[in-house]
Amino acid sequence: MKDALNRYFGFVDFRESQAEVVERVLEGEELCVIMPTGAGKSLCYQLPMLMRPGYGLVISPLISLMKDQVDALNARGLAAVCVNSAIPPAEQEAAFRAVATGQVKFLYVAPERFQVPSFRHFLDGVRPNLVVVDEAHCVSQWGHDFRPDYQMIWSQCEVLRQMQVCAFTATATPAVREDIRTQLRRPAMAEVVSGFKRPNLELSVLPCRGKKDKQAVVERLLREPQPTLLYTSSRKEAEGLAGQFDLQYYHAGMTDQARKAAQDYFIRDACPVLVATNAFGMGIDRADVRRVIHYNMPGSLEAYYQEAGRAGRDGARSQCILLDSYPDLLIQQYLLELNNPPPELLVGLHRHLRLQEARGDGSTCAWQPELVWPTLPAAKSLGQVQAAARILERLGIVQRTYVRASGSGRLSFRGRLDKLCREHAGVQTQRSLLVATVAAYLQARDLQEWHGHPGELADISGLRLDQVRRVLDYLQGDVLDWLPDESGEVLALTPAGQTPELNVDLPDLARKRRVDEQRLELVREYCRCHTCRQAFIISYFGEKIGSWSCGCCDVCGSGAGKHVDAGRPATPAEQRDGLRILAALESIDGQFGRRRFLAMLMGLEDESPVLTAHPAYGAMRKSGERHLEELLDALCRQGYIQVGKGQYPVLELSGRGSKAAQGHGELELSLLSPAGKPPRRKKF
Ligand code: ADP
Ligand code: MG
Repeated sequence: MKDALNRYFGFVDFRESQAEVVERVLEGEELCVIMPTGAGKSLCYQLPMLMRPGYGLVISPLISLMKDQVDALNARGLAAVCVNSAIPPAEQEAAFRAVATGQVKFLYVAPERFQVPSFRHFLDGVRPNLVVVDEAHCVSQWGHDFRPDYQMIWSQCEVLRQMQVCAFTATATPAVREDIRTQLRRPAMAEVVSGFKRPNLELSVLPCRGKKDKQAVVERLLREPQPTLLYTSSRKEAEGLAGQFDLQYYHAGMTDQARKAAQDYFIRDACPVLVATNAFGMGIDRADVRRVIHYNMPGSLEAYYQEAGRAGRDGARSQCILLDSYPDLLIQQYLLELNNPPPELLVGLHRHLRLQEARGDGSTCAWQPELVWPTLPAAKSLGQVQAAARILERLGIVQRTYVRASGSGRLSFRGRLDKLCREHAGVQTQRSLLVATVAAYLQARDLQEWHGHPGELADISGLRLDQVRRVLDYLQGDVLDWLPDESGEVLALTPAGQTPELNVDLPDLARKRRVDEQRLELVREYCRCHTCRQAFIISYFGEKIGSWSCGCCDVCGSGAGKHVDAGRPATPAEQRDGLRILAALESIDGQFGRRRFLAMLMGLEDESPVLTAHPAYGAMRKSGERHLEELLDALCRQGYIQVGKGQYPVLELSGRGSKAAQGHGELELSLLSPAGKPPRRKKF
């Protein structure tokens, strides 16, 4: 193996796990290999393909990726060809001939190729020595790059079942990996996860009470100039922070030109500090980023590690700091809610679109979610209706297109149709001709309104087009209403969406919601964890690390978090207040969210008797709001209080919290504000 490595690639040695993968592939095992980008996945399958007689088949999703790989192989003198829609037919044929006659070791194809019967036939006749699915996360609906073509391969191509298939991806989500095995119809595929360790990254988490705290931390950190990326979760926040600290920013809502300028600044400046949303980072290679600060809590550890991992590519010590504040969790929960609309909403939206199509206007009616929203009781927000439409689109139920105004519109009459027919029948004016014929047309078809182009009205009425237009104008608002269509987006049902019942795997969507919830919960666990931060993340990814620890995070080393603010233990008075909060929460467990719980503790006026009549109402009237908030956040941070998993973000006691509330065990609280007298309650 090593000989082959030297001979074909000129490399001295294998990287971590490459040798293991090559060996197992050569032994005939089917593997799902997960390594981060740049770790050297291609070699893991290219080497076995070279060492075996015949050629290897690589399925790759992007034409540009394919071309890069083929060029790189050819540059090493290893014969490779690719076949995709961008290659002229004559060249495609030449490529297949070269494969069939053994002149080529690698054939790269796009997933769409499997729809071509002659290609499937070719594969059956000239079998590859190994089939590789590169960027395999594209088969999974859970991933961001879902490609239906990728998924279809396995139902379209029988012969693949008889071949050795391996999958490669950099995506670390366990749910996606499981889905890859399911989609490839190879549940027994073994997994190799490797290469995620980054010993030069100092991970740390800084608990913050809220915006003020976070801004103070940022200010402190920025005093030391270093190439820094500061991630926020929204465009607005990115612009706000940039304004406050006089920094440059980057997000997807900017013009191409402005984004290019921000990128150039980040790549070329000696010591750039850039505030950015998660839109920034793909394909940006700056090796000496010394610090990645997350101003907001990310929605998943995969996303966090990918963004944080943009620090220290040169191998030198770098800091990855996450500012953890409780309100960010609520934002993430809100986003989760938004992106996982309830099944009733999907069913309702589907029904709405079917009704629209049944009325004959589905294919030309603009998609106006703000008008649809009020008609769907299951929708909590406009954003959720839009998310539901995106899900139906992804599942192939609807298709979104953009239409330009074509002069078409809808016509409805202001009187009863039979009456109009009677009144206008036999009257030889242009107006009566139009009214009588169109009313009769609608009546015969049992329609309330007519939709289409005025040219069709000319056909129905026997008038000329210019006459139709004049008549419509004349009768507008009196006998009839003519409403021209506007240009805009259109949602139309696909053939798959034409069924009376919504043909969607609802349990699958429920599973996706649970997966999203678990991912978010894991971010919270990460923030609270008492073991090596990096070990926590990569063992979640599935990499076998034994007792390895990074030795430099804020838990197991001296990471940046240690120097900033580790908090202080609560005073006995604060401990008592903490217990009183837990006791109050125990009595109303699961009824209120944070705002209302605080209002109840403080005894604020409220219309709801549920709040004011409760025994715990006003239980901490004497404490100031800041003080209560600080204690509540600390109780959440330290795992005494959690946010319920139901429909609303209500506060609940955790197991630990219940024990403490019942007086078992000490309350361990660390607070961020300086110790002293708790502030007095504000006067209103
Ligand atoms: P991935 O697909 O995992 O993102 P690639 O397969 O494209 O990564 O490899 C990334 C780079 O690492 C390539 O330039 C490749 O030539 C190089 N590389 C891979 N394996 C080795 C090795 N054993 N020794 C030196 N360089 C390697
Ligand atoms: Mg690759």
